[in-house]
Amino acid sequence: MSAVPQQRPMLSLDEALSRLVQGSVACRIDQTQTVSTFDALGRVLAADVLSALNVPPQDNTSMDGYALCCADVPTAGTLLPVAQRIPAGHVGQPLQPGTAARIFTGGQVPAGADAVVMQEQCVALDGGVVRIDTVPRPGQWIRRRGEDVLQGAAVLTRGQRLNPQALGLAASVGAASLSVLRRPRVAIFSTGDELMMPGEPLRPGAIYNSNRFTLRALLQAAGCEVQDLGIVEDTLAATRAALRNAAAGSDLIVTCGGVSVGDEDHLKPAARAEGELEDWQIAIKPGKPLAFGRIRRSDGRSDGCKDDGKGGGEDGGADGGQGGAGGQSGVALLVGLPGNPVSAFITHLLAVSTVLRVMQGMDSALPAGLPLRAAFDWPKPDKRREFLRVRLNGDGALELFANQSSGVLTSVVWADGLVDNPPGQTIVQGDVVRFLPLSALIAR
Ligand code: AMP
Ligand code: MG
Repeated sequence: MSAVPQQRPMLSLDEALSRLVQGSVACRIDQTQTVSTFDALGRVLAADVLSALNVPPQDNTSMDGYALCCADVPTAGTLLPVAQRIPAGHVGQPLQPGTAARIFTGGQVPAGADAVVMQEQCVALDGGVVRIDTVPRPGQWIRRRGEDVLQGAAVLTRGQRLNPQALGLAASVGAASLSVLRRPRVAIFSTGDELMMPGEPLRPGAIYNSNRFTLRALLQAAGCEVQDLGIVEDTLAATRAALRNAAAGSDLIVTCGGVSVGDEDHLKPAARAEGELEDWQIAIKPGKPLAFGRIRRSDGRSDGCKDDGKGGGEDGGADGGQGGAGGQSGVALLVGLPGNPVSAFITHLLAVSTVLRVMQGMDSALPAGLPLRAAFDWPKPDKRREFLRVRLNGDGALELFANQSSGVLTSVVWADGLVDNPPGQTIVQGDVVRFLPLSALIAR
């Protein structure tokens, strides 16, 4: 009796992502660190940031000009004595009725004043008198106390990744340090006997290892601590050893290559031998094969994704938390990506990012995408959901990169984003398609 080739289940992307979510929740990282707000770029907040103050703390002017009381200026051309001068950073005296205060942007509006007239609408006359050439409206050019942030408000929330503007907002409420999650520890390796490193003369049959650079940088951009184990030869023994080695120090292992069904594809048998594996075909293009699994720790640790309590590398000591493996024990998660460079890039953005977000308690849904017009025809769609490399043109429509092959890395450098095209869907110029900007997918 001849062996029937095993049919691997073909999952929809949504089903695969939901299994990734289910499989990752047990490996939530909950160990926290306190880092200087200066050094918190890209980190994930472990607690809400509450404001202890109103921002701005007091009413202040958004213009250089004169602070006054509107009741004192019934008509344009009214003259007022200038009784005081209030630069930014200084507090004036209460405004005496019938006077104006010279004031500069950011200066605190004195009690008794209810408007600022910009200096372009005033004329300073001799003798310390100003002529107001407009009838002011109460409140004009005044930035109100607390109009940006009210005391007690949560300005940033737990699970939020800190981008430059979030750091500025944290600083604006006086937060000198922030409580963040420790970085996810991710071990990576590339499989393939054809791979060589840039700097080495290319021998016949070889190619340079591009995925190592792409994946490492994607992980770094997502705030991970990356342990790069380099290139692993195409043997079962070497792949098993690499997985064991990777699992020892990481929460997550990301590999590329060797997840197909060829004789030289050892990742899956190695993962089965070193732990457990879900072997999927995902109905997407590019990037069909994907491996998701758990690799046992060979160092006898039984803390799963938990932290070792030594804190976070360059970021200073750990504050607390249990590290995060929950019920999961003694394993590192594994995501095995396909080797083709575009497939590896896109499946990283879809799958690895989802796992990392779940591990950090973040919303794991893919970005919603934008409805935009196609400036191209796509007459022969695939039966799988496709992610087409496209670029926005000057008319706000999407141009298609000519070569959509999964090996053509120039396409993802040229592209601004991906069209998320449903299975079997043709596209004609002018159709509205769903656009996922790469900027929303990278480091999400
Ligand atoms: P595999 O998934 O190992 O069957 O590889 C599929 C294709 O991707 C082959 O053409 C490989 O040479 C190529 N490939 C695999 N790994 C890498 C890598 N790290 N960098 C660039 N190309 C790769
Ligand atoms: Mg290979």
